[in-house]
Amino acid sequence: VSKNESKQEEQNLIVGLRIRPLNEDEIIAGATPVAHKVDDNMVVLMDPTDDPDDILRANRSREKQYIFDVAFDGSATQKEVYEKTTKFLIPNVVNGYNATVFAYGATGAGKTYTMLGTAEERGIMARTMNDLFLEMEKTQEDMAYRVTVSFLEIYNEMIRDLLCPSSGVLDLREDSNGVQVAGLSKFQAKSTREIMDILIKGNKQRTQEPTVANKTSSRSHAVLQITVRQKNRIRDNTVQEVRMGKLFLIDLAGSERAANTQNRGKRMVEGAHINRSLLALGNCINALSDKHARKYINYRDSKLTRLLKDALGGNTKTVMIATISPASIHFEESRNTLVYADRAK
Ligand code: ADP
Ligand code: MG
Repeated sequence: VSKNESKQEEQNLIVGLRIRPLNEDEIIAGATPVAHKVDDNMVVLMDPTDDPDDILRANRSREKQYIFDVAFDGSATQKEVYEKTTKFLIPNVVNGYNATVFAYGATGAGKTYTMLGTAEERGIMARTMNDLFLEMEKTQEDMAYRVTVSFLEIYNEMIRDLLCPSSGVLDLREDSNGVQVAGLSKFQAKSTREIMDILIKGNKQRTQEPTVANKTSSRSHAVLQITVRQKNRIRDNTVQEVRMGKLFLIDLAGSERAANTQNRGKRMVEGAHINRSLLALGNCINALSDKHARKYINYRDSKLTRLLKDALGGNTKTVMIATISPASIHFEESRNTLVYADRAK
């Protein structure tokens, strides 16, 4: 058992950090890389505006270090990121435990690439589905499974079905099965290719906003919800046991507007244009990561945290993958994300 694997078994919150490669636009803009992976747990960030004379005078390092459960740089493959952050959850979910994986970061940092990916470079969503099917096949003789999958967005505290946009705004309801989105469509797909097609199509339905940089920034959260119901096949007169595991895979809204230099552990202050669900999630994560103080987690603050209520905290696993650009021109955004996700106390 590697260090990484044992940590995944012990901890309820796993934090990964992914630095994407420098892209062409950044190179054309004259940007240089300022974020580097040092080892599997450490990333350093250099302040490009830092005065070299002052660094010498104060005899300090130009780089700041940040610690994570796992770190990736531009050389990491989609497969590697999936295997080191999410794969370990598969047997848990099949056995009835809930879990949440989300990508956090500024617009353009690599959230959608990490969670959804492309047809050629599949991300965490399709890889998870593929492995879930393989895991269920292994125990098919003894167990009967039913898997349902939904894909929704939360935008301005409104829930919409990404696979059936004509359904309009949907409501959250709570019943004996837990939290449900009323009227949400479900899909079944057998091949990874089919799943990828459905997800790419759904992702195109997300509410987008043009930004100054002429990129599309997203203030919507895309949530893939996978529910696995497990029943043992009746062989004798024993009572039939039914278990249900829920897995949420989430491509969060861009954190740039919410990340006005909030320190971890401090409660974020809500501003006029800040995404309510992103803030509430941040507060829940802060409460989760604070091992000593048993903080009260207020799920009711937003649609996202209400939806995740039974898949966040308690004995469920939460995986956060923070994403950043390595470019000097995105230094501020990257620093905000690194400070926010840093595992060091
Ligand atoms: P976000 O969803 O955080 O706004 P994207 O995932 O859309 O950002 O990434 C922005 C651009 O960078 C996209 O064109 C994407 O394909 C590319 N990209 C992101 N991460 C990587 C990576 N690790 N390797 C190669 N290209 C990447
Ligand atoms: Mg995106």
